[in-house]
Amino acid sequence: MIAWPEDAAKLPSAPASGFCLPGLVNAHSHVFQRALLAAGAGRGGGDFWSWREAMYGLANRIEAEVLADLAAWVYAEMLCNGYTWVCEFHYLHRRPDGSLDEPPEAMLRALIEAARRSGIGMTLLPVLYRHGGFGRRPLAPEQRRFFLELAEYRELLAALIAEEGPRLRIGIAFHSLRAVELDEMAEVLSWPESEGRPIHIHIAEQPREVEECLVHHRCRPVELLFARLAPDRRWTLVHATHLSAAEIETLRASACTIAFCPSTEADLGDGLPPAAELFSPPPTALGLAIGSDSELVLSPWEELRWLEWGQRLRFGRRGVLSAQGGEGLLRRAVAGGWRAAGFSGHGEDRPEDWIELSEEAPALLEASPETLADQLIFSGERGVVARVFAGGKLLIRQGSHPEAAALQAEARRALRFLRSR
Ligand SMILES: [Zn+2]
Repeated sequence: MIAWPEDAAKLPSAPASGFCLPGLVNAHSHVFQRALLAAGAGRGGGDFWSWREAMYGLANRIEAEVLADLAAWVYAEMLCNGYTWVCEFHYLHRRPDGSLDEPPEAMLRALIEAARRSGIGMTLLPVLYRHGGFGRRPLAPEQRRFFLELAEYRELLAALIAEEGPRLRIGIAFHSLRAVELDEMAEVLSWPESEGRPIHIHIAEQPREVEECLVHHRCRPVELLFARLAPDRRWTLVHATHLSAAEIETLRASACTIAFCPSTEADLGDGLPPAAELFSPPPTALGLAIGSDSELVLSPWEELRWLEWGQRLRFGRRGVLSAQGGEGLLRRAVAGGWRAAGFSGHGEDRPEDWIELSEEAPALLEASPETLADQLIFSGERGVVARVFAGGKLLIRQGSHPEAAALQAEARRALRFLRSR
């Protein structure tokens, strides 16, 4: 994966430095949530559930135009840090009063526009969200924007599929087992529109979700999903934080991908996922990916760092997921990310998306092929990425986006507008 000079000859443009990597995939993003940071949601105590109330407040203030301005800047920042593709998991569909937008996919089109403007590739995941909890609990008023009838979801999917191209793929997403019933998932998956597409779902992020699943279904979330739908390599399970030993074994034998979001999971106090149990010894087909989720951190290196450090803190030893050095973890995250985005390859086979690292960055000073991945993961910060080729075009030069100033000004306006409402 790390393109040494001999491999770099295959790239469409000669690298200036010896250190090139395939672009990374951000496998789980809710771009609107970036606005929570400037709105002060980092202050005070509470837990996941009180944070969710603040997030709902924001979700009910955001409109398509503001979303596009904020998203284009966030995506440009992701590019500067080495992500060249994002899986955007989006569930704001209706207007805050519950009526349908015109067109119904207006918010999703705003995201497509933002991705085009920034240059990042996108697997757009329109999310089906129908219930307020297990047992078809009614939605709360603040969840009204998320709701879609199955027929509405199907129409929206068809409209988005018509937009697909080299930098845009459409996937399927179910918010969670709380929000979508298994028979509803089965129906969506039976549609010809769903065939061959990546499928994403949040799972087992919080102990309360596991407890409620046990009450309603007499089994745990991962057990339930595998008993009823037999997820295969098209599936990405987001978080998978609270698992039983049996669920870990089920996942290890599967070809799904787990998308860990270490910065958000830490921020929300979700708990540390059993990543060591899932990935060592290496399973045959289970994939590992990383996501920025609530967008506090837009750097793949920092997500990987906290994924590994979290496991070290659990076990009191070093090199848990990176026993043979960081390169194994980096390779796994690249391959798993591209799989989560709906590609069959491992990243190395996408010469149109690659990044070139700066040998001048403090973290990479005196890097060698043997130490590069560790230097990136454990010390990489803004500036380690010098150039980014996205979709075969040179987009990021000297670590900066060509439209950085305009995008930042628009994002600033969007954030001020949201704070004022
Ligand atoms: Zn999420």
